[in-house]
Amino acid sequence: MAATAELLDPGRFGYLKPKDVARLAEAYRFSEAAHAGQTRQSGDPYISHPLAVAEILADWHLDGQTLMAALLHDVTEDTSVTKDEISDTFGRPVADLVDGVSKLDRIEFQSAEDAQAENFRKMLLAMARDVRVMLIKLADRLHNMRTLGAVPPAKRRRVARETMEIYAPIANRLGLNTLYHELQELAFTHLYPVRYKVLAKATKAARGNRREMIGRTLEAIKKKLAESAISAQVFGREKHVYSTYRKMIEKHLSFSEVHDIFGCRIIVKDVPSCYLALGALHALYKPIPGKFKDYIAIAKANGYQSIHTDLIGPYGVPVEVQIRTEQMHRLAESGVASHWMYKDDADRLSEVQKQTHRWLQSLLEIQHQSGDPQEFLEHVKVDLFPDEVYVFTPKGKILSLPRGATAVDFAYAVHTDIGNRCVAAKVNGELVPLRTELRNGDRVEIITASHAKPSAGWLQYVRTGKARSNIRHFLKTMQYEESAGLGERLLDQALRGLKSSLGEIDDAAWERVVRDSGARSREELLADIGLGKRLPAVVARRLMKKADPEETKAAGSVTIRGTEGMAVQLATCCRPIPGDAIVGSIKKGQGLVVHATECGAIVRSRRNEPDQWIDVEWDARITRLFQAAIHVTVENQRGVLAKVASEIAEAGSNIDSITMEEDRAVFTTMHFVLEVANRQHLARVMRALRRLPDVQKITRTRE
Ligand code: MN
Repeated sequence: MAATAELLDPGRFGYLKPKDVARLAEAYRFSEAAHAGQTRQSGDPYISHPLAVAEILADWHLDGQTLMAALLHDVTEDTSVTKDEISDTFGRPVADLVDGVSKLDRIEFQSAEDAQAENFRKMLLAMARDVRVMLIKLADRLHNMRTLGAVPPAKRRRVARETMEIYAPIANRLGLNTLYHELQELAFTHLYPVRYKVLAKATKAARGNRREMIGRTLEAIKKKLAESAISAQVFGREKHVYSTYRKMIEKHLSFSEVHDIFGCRIIVKDVPSCYLALGALHALYKPIPGKFKDYIAIAKANGYQSIHTDLIGPYGVPVEVQIRTEQMHRLAESGVASHWMYKDDADRLSEVQKQTHRWLQSLLEIQHQSGDPQEFLEHVKVDLFPDEVYVFTPKGKILSLPRGATAVDFAYAVHTDIGNRCVAAKVNGELVPLRTELRNGDRVEIITASHAKPSAGWLQYVRTGKARSNIRHFLKTMQYEESAGLGERLLDQALRGLKSSLGEIDDAAWERVVRDSGARSREELLADIGLGKRLPAVVARRLMKKADPEETKAAGSVTIRGTEGMAVQLATCCRPIPGDAIVGSIKKGQGLVVHATECGAIVRSRRNEPDQWIDVEWDARITRLFQAAIHVTVENQRGVLAKVASEIAEAGSNIDSITMEEDRAVFTTMHFVLEVANRQHLARVMRALRRLPDVQKITRTRE
């Protein structure tokens, strides 16, 4: 077994403990046996692929578990081996890693649209909760890209496109810069083979022409730094073919315009030296204004740090310079993987910690706290986007929502109309309530009904601002319309008292009154009446140009739906419910307050200020619930409240509040505020309670 011998090659795997190398050889043999007889498109035995993936990961110095998982990563998908078998043989962590990689393989790339690709990348990252899963996946993709030539052209283009749009940006997000560029170059080669060939050739030619100039510039920089007593390594930097291409496209430049720039990288020992080197270079060559960027003070999102400056070099050739420390350089090249590669470097890492992005920082902190690398790895479950979930629409579009978002948020995210009309949802094909919280990867379908309306109750569980503001807006508009409707009814009643009616008022009268009152429209004036900001009798008299208040007498009654919102208040003294005889009090600034006619609190006012009172009645089509209060006197014993409460629920009513009298006597009284539909419903609840043997007395409260 030649390959096993290679596995043991200390040049590649020597950083592992001998015990881990032995386990690795075991995983290799297991995988080789499982894939026996399978070949790759190139004709090579299949095992060559997982081995190459493990080698890439070994170059990043990943731990033994990750390397074992890399060797086994295609076993559960392509052979009859199960996750349990891997778990039994190599342990749970390895099996979990293999499982994670297989899960990522199963998600299909859906759309080329840029925003979609971004969501897709985020979803992949979120689903790979352990960053090692993503590292295996990236190494897998890198090897597949390196060997893509053997694959049929149509598949080759699809894989290349996916690499360009999904995996290269993920590598970038994780700060794996070298990998990022290699994936891009490889994808570019397969997506645009002719363009690649032309540009690669031109790049090579240009390099040859400028060799002398480049050498002289590097020498001058080295000399200047040495004179300034800054110890530094200075490198010329090759532009990647794909970066050249992208710059040409994005900035509409010709090849020579893009390529006539010389890149140079300076690596120094510490941060102060970065700024000293910058000063020395600016003394050597003139800087190009506006081209200086300090990513040391403010790191890029993936943790990248450097100083960038553009100079005018010899012969007027622009020189792009990057200045960074050794530590920053490692992070720039290997990103998240540098934590495995340079574990011994704890002190310098802690320096980077302060400046790198939050997620990267949290990774390092765990390592710092636990100290034990093994324990660290066990705990590194990287949730890169902990506050987001990614879900699919029925058409396969991906939506990103805040964690905790529900089906209602989803509905509003798709379209405001869908949100306003949603009644239920299907998640992964199953019917669920609208309040259901969505999880990563859910496929969500919203069921709408044309008559459906948003409910105030939704506000309790929606998470997105879009859903919240749309629901609020809808409720407000609805309330405004209801108020205007009530205002119209109140005004008509007042007009009838003046022996007229709304139908008899002409447009000219309306226009005059609207203008005089300062309202913006007839509707606003009506809404003001409904909300109690204007008195209907006053407006009625103005419409009829009558000034004498004595003539006003109510006629007919105003119907109440209970959905008028603030415009109609049900008095809390008597808590009227549909079926009760009611009467309305209308005071400016209070709107319409509805009392039960038998309410004790209004007797005096009705006698002394009869003008304030108008006849009202319940609308026949009321569907909402109303509050009613009852006293229940029971035998004071254990469990009695539970019995009463369950009887209330049984009768289809909700309890809004309970107060109990502090009483040690044989009997005690409980006060309930219940939600009922109407008088009959309340009667049903009270009858049910009366049947309980513990209940002595029950009355509806009206005071
Ligand atoms: Mn693979």
